[in-house]
Amino acid sequence: MSDPLLLTPDWQLPGNVIAGVSDRLGGVSAAPYDSFNLALHVGDDPGAVQRNRERLLQWLPAGMNVQWLEQVHGTTVVDAAFQAPERCGDAVYVDRPGLAGAVLTADCLPVFFAARDGRRVAVAHAGWRGLAAGILETTLERFPDAPEEVIAWLGPAIGVCHFEVGLEVRDIFLDACATTTQRQQLQVTAFRPAATADKCHADLFALARLRLQAAGVREIGGGGLCTHCDAAHYYSYRRDGRTGRFVSIVGLAPDQD
Ligand SMILES: [Zn+2]
Repeated sequence: MSDPLLLTPDWQLPGNVIAGVSDRLGGVSAAPYDSFNLALHVGDDPGAVQRNRERLLQWLPAGMNVQWLEQVHGTTVVDAAFQAPERCGDAVYVDRPGLAGAVLTADCLPVFFAARDGRRVAVAHAGWRGLAAGILETTLERFPDAPEEVIAWLGPAIGVCHFEVGLEVRDIFLDACATTTQRQQLQVTAFRPAATADKCHADLFALARLRLQAAGVREIGGGGLCTHCDAAHYYSYRRDGRTGRFVSIVGLAPDQD
């Protein structure tokens, strides 16, 4: 059976850190969820989703517990140590071996975090609402580490090529800038003109990078893979509407006795 987590962060961390992103291949879900859909809330057959989740679990080290979320575009960070089947929140923080956190996306940006010593990790679900509300900063604050000791990595999300938003979305980010210089930098770096004057294109990767850098994170990898462009590998809500979700998962392998 093929590896369900072929895309992995290119960070240099101890081998106990498990992290990866699934694609839509190799599962049992029927169209339009074909085929490796891991979300229960999108209308897919729950039995198929369960079988897909079992395939994912088989690939993880034995004894791993995964914390799934009911994501709400907010800023709640769930601690994987308080295990429950599915909890409301938009990020999972993990600081114990044998636990993992998972976020499900199809255009929103999954952001991975890890302390350099490999003992604490997190993953966040960041659409524009979550980014604006501060989900990345809130996740980073869960780490006892200084921000420069935390590494971040950006998974696949809808790219600036396809992410058209109303100008009011851009203005939410611009209005949050402390200085005119920051405002100009953000406008140039994270937004592009659209075909019509009342819209623009937003760059979630750039928005996330700027937010993380402002919070003190120095090492940020990944970014640039557009879910909308790559229909063969990724679900895209903007492109397909009714569709599946792929997983971004991060965890700490159980201790070897
Ligand atoms: Zn695209």
